[in-house]
Amino acid sequence: MNKNHNPKPMLKYLMATLILFASLLSFGQTQKPVIAILATGGTIAGSAQSSVQASYNPGILSVEQIISSVPAVNEIATLEAIQVCNISSQNMEEQIWLQLWKTIDSLFANKLCDGVVITHGTDTMEETAYFLNLTVRHPNPVVLTGSMRPASALSADGPFNLYNAVALASSKEAYGKGVMVAMNDLFFCANDVTKSHTTNTAAFTCPNYGPLGQMRDGKPSFFRENLFIHTTRSQFELKGVDKLPGTEILYAYAFASDLPFYSLIEQGTKGIVIAGAGHGNYNRPFATAMEHASKKGIVVVRSTRIPSGGVDKAAEEYNSIFPVSYNKNPQKARILLMLALTQTKDTKKIQEFFEKY
Ligand code: GLU
Repeated sequence: MNKNHNPKPMLKYLMATLILFASLLSFGQTQKPVIAILATGGTIAGSAQSSVQASYNPGILSVEQIISSVPAVNEIATLEAIQVCNISSQNMEEQIWLQLWKTIDSLFANKLCDGVVITHGTDTMEETAYFLNLTVRHPNPVVLTGSMRPASALSADGPFNLYNAVALASSKEAYGKGVMVAMNDLFFCANDVTKSHTTNTAAFTCPNYGPLGQMRDGKPSFFRENLFIHTTRSQFELKGVDKLPGTEILYAYAFASDLPFYSLIEQGTKGIVIAGAGHGNYNRPFATAMEHASKKGIVVVRSTRIPSGGVDKAAEEYNSIFPVSYNKNPQKARILLMLALTQTKDTKKIQEFFEKY
């Protein structure tokens, strides 16, 4: 042993290491991510008269009541609760979308939270998710969740869905991944996710690309990446927008009437998406009405009522002069068209949007 060894500097070094270690530990404890829970209603806020009945009323519980059913979320994040509305999502309104966008934009721009979780009815969750995916221009996680069983049901799925959504929104891995939907232990990208079962707890799928990943023990494990343009790379700007261009969907089926077409043309609709049969097909009256609409400056996009496979430029019977939606289902194609129409009516440019977003 070196006789000249002086224990003091060593002690000092040890103490400094301990203090640093302790402060790192306490930093870890106090610096939980801040997650804003934006509640909009749906079954996750729903209540039935008994724990086993199928009928119930959505949009009953407040955001505080929903959160209080999942005490474990407080261990992973510091929560800020905001009640945006309390509706069934079939009653979603354009003004609520704009309000959601404004709230999220200002929360992130002012660094008031690290991530956002939106509780939402499952019926139109995929639409709100895609709208925000194209318009929230921040890399912070935005995750939508809900439930298929009301909060009062036996084996309600809302609490675990909320836990997983908060865990996903709190994770580093979720940064820059675009808006996601977390349901039934899986999470999905907003551009492909769709509700594909009316009542089952495994109601959501990404029919073209599969889920983005799954939650286990409060940690996300990603299976793949979403390569479509979203959030920070999106060119859609909502600042100063208080009304979106009127855009509707028309469904094609055997001997479908063209009457709704002419009524939309008369009402000054700006864009129409065709939920075509098969590979984006429609009957002769539709074909005539579509040409008429496009002569009036209405942008018509061919999509499909088939859940997977999408529509490309190939066409039967008619020369396809209309933009196609590729893998966007009609409800997502409508949102992209609506936002595209805030910038252009040029069908070539609109087609390019469908290739990239
Ligand atoms: N139809 C209601 C809604 O979308 C309930 C469906 C649900 O949340 O699962 O809000």
